[in-house]
Amino acid sequence: MIPPIARRFVAGESVPEALDHVRARNADGVAVMLNLLGEHYDDPGNARADVDAYLALLDDIADSGLDACVSVKPSQIGLDVSADLFEEHYREIVARAHEHDAFVWYDMENADTTDATLDAFESIAADYPWSVGQCLQSNLKRTREDLERLVDVPGKIRLVKGAYDEPAAIAYKKRSRVDEAYREDLAFLFERRERGVAVGSHDPAMIALSDRLAREHGTAYEVQMLMGVREDAQRDLATQGVDVSQYAPYGDKWISYFYRRVRERRENLTFAVRAVFGR
Ligand code: FAD
Repeated sequence: MIPPIARRFVAGESVPEALDHVRARNADGVAVMLNLLGEHYDDPGNARADVDAYLALLDDIADSGLDACVSVKPSQIGLDVSADLFEEHYREIVARAHEHDAFVWYDMENADTTDATLDAFESIAADYPWSVGQCLQSNLKRTREDLERLVDVPGKIRLVKGAYDEPAAIAYKKRSRVDEAYREDLAFLFERRERGVAVGSHDPAMIALSDRLAREHGTAYEVQMLMGVREDAQRDLATQGVDVSQYAPYGDKWISYFYRRVRERRENLTFAVRAVFGR
């Protein structure tokens, strides 16, 4: 059982619990991206099990009629085994989503996975237009070039600041420099794309900038935030008519995810302490 304190960040251990969470968020006008918790499998059997779970989840979402999609980590579907196995699984999940007229997001992990992840996105989006979206990280110095390469790909692009601690040779380290890169990348995407821009940020300054850029260029975009973070803002934006999507993890591997969220912000520490001491 997930303790109530972790339930702020995790939608449950089972698919029915996750779908109940989607139903509740949909009632507020917020769509949900479901992520089955799991990463860095070096055993192909574990990767296969998660691929099968995502295929079944896509079927369940289609049957339910809910406003939901899935968001998958490359290393949970075989990237740590081989790039070929990963791409085969990537394609299989997108093909199932395409069958249902549904959607799959791929998260971006540490920088040594970027090439294989973007190669899969570029080729599979061409085969299944507007069924897949890919996350890119503005803290990586290479990202502007990657955006130029991918700007015409018929898939969505989620821009985030970047959660992985990368070496200074390849990544901006100062927070202000990452923010500057994020602003520039947002401006590039809104200027060059008509649709398919996802702003993966809780930062009010970046949300306001996106609103301005959308008015200026007429670009269709969505705002994406994590479950348990600024949920009031998620509801408010949806009420104002902005497309909002919440990233909600579920599954039995919730402990490490929960502590990562807690480490990120002091505000959440109180919750962790309460979780540990049971009040
Ligand atoms: P920050 O720079 O952390 O904060 C800026 C401001 O936002 C703060 O000053 C505050 O005003 C506000 N804020 C932020 N958090 C809170 C809070 N808890 N409560 C109140 N105010 C807050 N990273 C990856 O590397 N790969 C991925 O695939 C990936 N996918 C993501 C998907 C989604 C939907 C989201 C939202 C993030 C994802 N990330 C991913 C994480 C991302 O890279 C950042 O690490 C994370 O979002 C923090 O950056 P930020 O832009 O939200 O704001």
